[in-house]
Amino acid sequence: MEIKTTRKCKVCKNLIVLETDKFVPHNKDDYYHQDCFIEMMNDKNKQLSQDEILEIIKKDREKSHDRIKMLIDKNHLFVFIVKKYELTFKPKYLFLRFEQIFNGSYKNITESVSPSDLLDMWLRKENELDRINQWKIGKGEPLDGLNRLWYDVAILLSKASSYKKWKMSQVINDRTKENIIEENKSKIDYMKIYNGNKERTNIENILEEI
Ligand SMILES: [Zn+2]
Repeated sequence: MEIKTTRKCKVCKNLIVLETDKFVPHNKDDYYHQDCFIEMMNDKNKQLSQDEILEIIKKDREKSHDRIKMLIDKNHLFVFIVKKYELTFKPKYLFLRFEQIFNGSYKNITESVSPSDLLDMWLRKENELDRINQWKIGKGEPLDGLNRLWYDVAILLSKASSYKKWKMSQVINDRTKENIIEENKSKIDYMKIYNGNKERTNIENILEEI
């Protein structure tokens, strides 16, 4: 399932796909295609050099990196939920409750769960959740969309801390792999430095001899 998170470009008014397009987030909630932004800056501030404009873009991107990642992650999660649970209406409390899950204030949870972790868990457990739902239907206790959603959320949240531990172990595995690659790289670099030094020493010796 490919989900696009879009915002309107303030210059050309066309949509920007945050996942794939080159764009500049400027100020709190303004978005520009990169090309549109450069053009605008060139028009507005004739004294700015291209390097200065690129520097502004770099800073804007760094500043809003976390905020935009959150925006995209939330959108992916909500689009998935609305489709999966066939929600035709989305009560306000739905988003409020999810915000509480993300910031850790939701009832009975001891730690926050980010939108991307929650979606990842959901996809990994989707078959299991479907089986539980079938079992409930078989028992004559079917749940409608929203009720099933909260039922599944409760199951996922009960598994959140073991999921986090598992994820952490995956990160450590990846780091170990990276370290091995880094170690091999640095061995090669040491050789380069060593050879480089040797050459320099030779030249220094020659110079001294002269
Ligand atoms: Zn544009």
